[in-house]
Amino acid sequence: MTDPRAPQIDVLVIGAGPAGSAAAAILAERGRRVRLLEKDRFPRPKVCGEFLSATARPSLERLGVLERVEAAAETIRRGSVHLPGADPVAFELPRPALGLSRFLLDDLLASRARELGADLRFAARVLAVDREPNHLRAFAFSFFLVTGTFTVGSFVGPVLSSINGWSEMHLAAIG
Ligand SMILES: Cc1cc2nc3c(=O)[nH]c(=O)nc-3n(C[C@H](O)[C@H](O)[C@H](O)COP(=O)(O)OP(=O)(O)OC[C@H]3O[C@@H](n4cnc5c(N)ncnc54)[C@H](O)[C@@H]3O)c2cc1C
Repeated sequence: MTDPRAPQIDVLVIGAGPAGSAAAAILAERGRRVRLLEKDRFPRPKVCGEFLSATARPSLERLGVLERVEAAAETIRRGSVHLPGADPVAFELPRPALGLSRFLLDDLLASRARELGADLRFAARVLAVDREPNHLRAFAFSFFLVTGTFTVGSFVGPVLSSINGWSEMHLAAIG
């Protein structure tokens, strides 16, 4: 049974990494009602080589963020190979690459998804996904910042989110 109070969504995307944010952005741009759940709060540091090869440019352009990425990134035109016992071998890249931290890139992509209409929720860790005959339920929980301390006592779940069905989110207390 559908709860009339429940905000209906077409697609639930779990994880606002580059893949999740890109998917959410494109779906939202096409008019889908998208909810994007991310366990962390952005911006946040993430270990990565921070290297965006030239082949990433068309995707960034498609997402409408190429100019923003270029403005924030370093341009990389040369590289070098270092092997033990040999002199480094320098080379020119065939096309310029970009260097950008995931701190900035992931935040930029998630913001773009939100800008295009995705309902982005941070600090929303999905714990389980439950398949039911007519819909999918994702159980998540979260905690929020109270006077500078992360408090597990402020557990506000379970958060129940569904596709094509009953849906309820208890995330109102979060940032
Ligand atoms: C050391 C290292 C260096 C790398 N260097 C490069 C590089 O220089 N250039 C390059 O192109 N690629 C690089 N990669 C690969 C690149 O990091 C991945 O291809 C890319 O992160 C994949 O994106 P994704 O969105 O699929 O996943 P992720 O980036 O892993 O994003 C997943 C997101 O989901 C969230 N999440 C996870 N579980 C949950 C949950 N239960 N509930 C809610 N949210 C959740 C996470 O917090 C995260 O934000 C590197 C990888 C590593 C490990």
